[in-house]
This record gives sequence, C-alpha cells and structure tokens, in this order.
Amino acid sequence: MAAPRPPRLDATADEVARIAAAAPDWPALAAAARPCVACPELAAVRQHVVVGDVPVGPPRFALVGEAPGATEDETGRPFVGRSGALLDQLLAEAGLARSEAAVLNIVKCRPPGNRTPTAHEVARCSGWLRRQLELLDPPIVVALGLSAAKWFLGPRTVLARARAEGPHDYAGRALWPTYHPSAAIRFGPNGAPRAALLADLSAVAASLGRRPA
Ligand code: SF4
Repeated sequence: MAAPRPPRLDATADEVARIAAAAPDWPALAAAARPCVACPELAAVRQHVVVGDVPVGPPRFALVGEAPGATEDETGRPFVGRSGALLDQLLAEAGLARSEAAVLNIVKCRPPGNRTPTAHEVARCSGWLRRQLELLDPPIVVALGLSAAKWFLGPRTVLARARAEGPHDYAGRALWPTYHPSAAIRFGPNGAPRAALLADLSAVAASLGRRPA
C-alpha cells in the first residue's frame, strides 16, 4: 500500500521537507533540524528542538509520539518525563528495550501549555519525520496516541478502531497504532489504555520473537 502523506498546507512545509530530504544521514538531519524556525509560535518559546533518540545500530522498531512536553523541552530528549518513565516500564514488561528503538515525535518543538499541535505545525514538521523514517528504516513503527496515528493513517483515523485493525502496512513497515502513555497515566494503573498499550507492546515483542519479562 502506498503510504498516505500528511497534508502539505504551505510553502514552509515544502521548504522543511526539501531541507530534510537533502540530509544524507542522521547527524546531518539533526544539525539541520535544531535551528528550525518554521513554526514561529513554537520556535519563540521552545528551549530545544527535540529531534529524537536513536540507537547505536539500526533500530528494531520506532516509537512515534505527538510532541515534546516540558521535561523533553528542557532536556532536548523525547519521552523523558512521566510519560517516558511509564513507557520505559511498559517496554521492559513487554520484553523490549528502549535502547533498541528510535524514539521520535511527529512535532519536534513543544506546543505552549502542551496543547495539541495545529495542522499547520504537523504539516511543517512532517518533512523531518519522513526523512527520519527513510534514514532509520525501522521495520516496525508504534504510533503512540491519536495524533501520531493520524499522521500515518490519515485525518479520519479513530484510534480504537485503528488499533483493533492493526498492525497496518505503512510503506512496507508494520504500523501499530496504540495509546499514548499520557492516556495510560490519565486513566490510572487499572485503566484500559495502560492495559491496551502493554498488550500492543507485547504483541510487537512477540513479532520480534521476544518473550515477556
Ligand atoms: S515544530 Fe518542527 S517544523 Fe516547527 S519549528 Fe519545530 S522543528 Fe521546525
């Protein structure tokens, strides 16, 4: 199946995509992304462009969330706050290690007040993520939360349905849409999102031949 493309809404998104596509490797892409000011509202208040974390070798899978939060903005690293701590815990319970994953977001700068990124911001930042996926070439992608699921599957995506129908084919990769760890925190340790996220990570682990810890 051809990969659906997120909408490109303006010339700035095209310019970001052009710069990203010219990056020959991860260090070049990261260096090009860090000074990005394509979204003026985000660039004015961010501390870091959170480009992403990558393993030393090729990633066994990629985790793709929505956007950095406060701790991520402070440190410059993805998923290091409360959501990141829960994600690490659930990965370990599933038999996976964060060190074998690329950890990315669809938007690289923190939206003020942790609001949902706008369609323009998502479109403008899409060039970075598209090139990251090309360069890293993960065979499995886990889309964490509705915003990430929509990026891959289109704007009409309903997370519960997409999750039930997964894994999907995305440009030859196995795409697993699932809940964001922040939803698992919001609904508590006995809530459905936490159980669903763990079940999906366990299914990813099983597809890699792993056993639960
Ligand atoms: S969110 Fe993405 S496109 Fe917008 S300024 Fe940050 S890095 Fe650039």
